[in-house]
Amino acid sequence: MSVRTFATRDGRPWVPSYLEAIDPDVCIGCGRCVKVCARDVIALRGVTEDGDLCDPFDDDEEIERKISVLVAAGDCVGCGSCATVCGTGAQHHAPVEEAA
Ligand code: SF4
Ligand code: SF4
Repeated sequence: MSVRTFATRDGRPWVPSYLEAIDPDVCIGCGRCVKVCARDVIALRGVTEDGDLCDPFDDDEEIERKISVLVAAGDCVGCGSCATVCGTGAQHHAPVEEAA
């Protein structure tokens, strides 16, 4: 098995590290990753008292906290921008393995 590899503009190997998961127990819902992602892979959600996810700006819900969730994982290009702005270590990134 080998990892999926592309090239930088000047031809050096570049291995994308795709966003695989966001730990809901570690994420503080700061929204920085949502703002920086140009691919709309991540979205902010409210968490209710019962642990259900909801619209984070719904005034009718009793929102205890906010978290970011993966909403379009397949659109991730592995740029790593979201990892750069996350200060909590909530995100897990990994390259994709391909058959040789
Ligand atoms: S790695 Fe890049 S494309 Fe993927 S979720 Fe993070 S900011 Fe978006
Ligand atoms: S930057 Fe990190 S802590 Fe902030 S919302 Fe995104 S995953 Fe959560």
